[in-house]
Amino acid sequence: MQTQAERGIYVHVPFCGRKCQYCDFHSVVADDTFVGSYFDAFRREVDARASQLGNHTFQTLFIGGGTPSVLRVARLEQLLDLLHRRFSFSEDAEITVEVNPSSLSAEKLQCLRSGGVNRLSMGVQSFEPHLLQVLGRLHSVGQVHESFAAARRLGFDNLSVDLMFGLPGQTTAQWQSTLAAAVQLGVEHVSAYSLILEEGTAFYRWAQRGLLALPDEDTETAMFATAMHDLPAQGLEQYEISNYAKPGFASRHNILYWTGKPYLALGSGAAGWWQGRRYINTRNMTQYMRGWLEQPAEEPLDLEEHPDLDQQMDEYMMTGMRLLAGVHGPTFADRFGRNIQDVYPQQVQTLLERGLVQWTQTQHLQLTWTGRFLGNLVFSAWLR
Ligand code: SF4
Repeated sequence: MQTQAERGIYVHVPFCGRKCQYCDFHSVVADDTFVGSYFDAFRREVDARASQLGNHTFQTLFIGGGTPSVLRVARLEQLLDLLHRRFSFSEDAEITVEVNPSSLSAEKLQCLRSGGVNRLSMGVQSFEPHLLQVLGRLHSVGQVHESFAAARRLGFDNLSVDLMFGLPGQTTAQWQSTLAAAVQLGVEHVSAYSLILEEGTAFYRWAQRGLLALPDEDTETAMFATAMHDLPAQGLEQYEISNYAKPGFASRHNILYWTGKPYLALGSGAAGWWQGRRYINTRNMTQYMRGWLEQPAEEPLDLEEHPDLDQQMDEYMMTGMRLLAGVHGPTFADRFGRNIQDVYPQQVQTLLERGLVQWTQTQHLQLTWTGRFLGNLVFSAWLR
């Protein structure tokens, strides 16, 4: 029997045109032969997971990375065709692909459109040419404008940009003009993240040696506040701590993560949550390819666990509180058979007293304005 519960699929494409200086996402620069072998293994994974699946309809598909748009047109076509053949999507499914302006062409956009893609998430990061250079991005500001215009011409009406603040040498005024440029483009959605120094990246090493002039904490807080003011003032409501959207354009796929809905994961390094099981496909590409090509009965995983009810509740609170709407008390109680206040009496009381969270009349526990600035304290409070 087919059920209508919400569920999604995440596909990780672990390839990029060049590695950015700050990036610790799972991605490599590879030649076409390697990419071809990888996709032979990927097809096996898709076949194996799809045949174990039973009859499910998916409401979202998110193809991320890495940079899916570095794939050549024929491969993009095959990828979309494979996913549509092996999985069933609802008629109004949200189908997103992450793209970079440097690797996008009219032909690729056309291929995505014909393959049912109805949402693009573009890695823009900044509208300041020198900051793009500092980040090691391959695209120019001009290419962002060209890609947007081309996408609109082909009928894409749900476009998102990723932007970053807290960058080396970045001023609040520069951040403000990047936000204004995104608004000017007419995007439907903005993801605005602060730079995190991840171990193993070039930025991390440079920072250790005192070579990165990063904005101080007050400036970074001011930048966050600027986004929370400027984007909603232009009709892009903040619906999650780092995400803003015009009405009706919040990312359905990401909401699925934040509300504990199931999603399949496909591709090296992808993390899934499916039927009470959390799994992460191995990041080791050789192991991934060997595993699926030679021993498809054994999934090549980096992690597999079956979180108990306590862990599930903790995670639900941790991710749910990221949404500005907060966590709905009765929904929590329906799902877990207990009330938030009974499971977390101390945490709720402390956060209420500190003015970081509040109960609404609709029984949502949500971040206060102050709580948005100290989000990490709130998100980590539920882990027991
Ligand atoms: S394009 Fe994205 S995934 Fe690729 S290296 Fe840069 S930040 Fe990382």
